Amino acid sequence: MNFVAEALNLSKFSAERLFERGILKKAFIKTDFFKDVIDAYRIEKKFGIYEEGTVVIKGKDGLKVVRGFPKIKRILSLESGLKKHFGDRMVAVEEKMNGYNVRVVKIGEEIYAITRRGLICPYTTEKAREKIPMDFFDEYEDFMLCCEAIGNASPYVADYYGIEGLEFFVFDVRKCETNVAMRIEDKEKILEKHGIKKVEILKKCSASEIEEIMGVIKGLNEKKREGVVFKDMEMQLEPLKYTTSFANCSDLAYAFRFFEEYSRDFMLARIIREAFQAFEFGYSDERALRLGKSILESAIESIKRVKAGEEVLEKSRLLFSSEKVYEAFKLHLKLLGISFRELEVKKSEKGLEVVIARVMRATTDRIRSLLEGNPW
Ligand code: ATP
Ligand code: MG
Repeated sequence: MNFVAEALNLSKFSAERLFERGILKKAFIKTDFFKDVIDAYRIEKKFGIYEEGTVVIKGKDGLKVVRGFPKIKRILSLESGLKKHFGDRMVAVEEKMNGYNVRVVKIGEEIYAITRRGLICPYTTEKAREKIPMDFFDEYEDFMLCCEAIGNASPYVADYYGIEGLEFFVFDVRKCETNVAMRIEDKEKILEKHGIKKVEILKKCSASEIEEIMGVIKGLNEKKREGVVFKDMEMQLEPLKYTTSFANCSDLAYAFRFFEEYSRDFMLARIIREAFQAFEFGYSDERALRLGKSILESAIESIKRVKAGEEVLEKSRLLFSSEKVYEAFKLHLKLLGISFRELEVKKSEKGLEVVIARVMRATTDRIRSLLEGNPW
């Protein structure tokens, strides 16, 4: 714990207090796959300047503070939101991709992948080592690649991009210790130079070119994409996010499929987003039908499952290079407090193919009880 105090400029006593209060937590599991990491703690709740998900790592090559990825504010009213925040500054309209947030860093001799809340994830680390060229870090040792991990082998988010395996799309390059982000054009140049995949920049324009920007969002919606993040070209102002109707509805479908696991706030927020979008972009029967279907169809699907005597599940299909990494990943899920069931384990020439499922206990039990005729 001493090294955490040293890295964050705290007294040893304060660091211990943070640990007791559950604000500082262990950030990794011990496995020889993480051989450069001697010890690591993560910050569970923002405190002082440190974002949630900040990790303090005692590596073989010294101490490293990896700051948490900052929250991005959302606007519901596109035109006035952009105007209020950016005026007529130049912005990059970046695609917002829907996967899970990963920070890739170098510790000692190797690449490590940290998930949103600050855990070093063995599965993601293995994939990052396959996909991200080390030479980037020869040049930018103290930087992190902030990316969205996407693909049909994602353990955390279902893929709808048709990406095989797991790919990393970088959206920010930041200094680990300060969280200062590179300017958009520098970022593009450096990622291209090292052949690293990046999210697409759909447009660079003034934030006041609203017709153009609305066109980009309509196009994304037709392609069933999540939305955009607006970024100041100089990365001096905070970015803003805005999502498509498709994303609002697919979130709703998900939440209603597992309606007892998801909070009322989660559902309400998406319905209100859709209302504001309908107000600004135009109401149509098509929009109304899409919203209604996303709610009803997915809830009915779960009811049917339980009626047929099954449980409501969320399955993921994963691919591990070895038994060892899979064992480490299972420990990691335990550390996260996620309980799951192993449905299938198969050795093939590709490695270890595993299907795991999260059982949605609360939704299953609620539906069963209602089907039996009990009152809500
Ligand atoms: P938060 O706003 O705190 O990140 P959240 O989990 O609700 O919380 P999202 O609504 O998914 O987050 O939006 C933010 C996330 O979007 C980022 O954390 C990042 O993982 C992801 N993302 C995808 N594409 C981009 C992009 N181009 N720029 C920035 N973030 C992106
Ligand atoms: Mg997301």
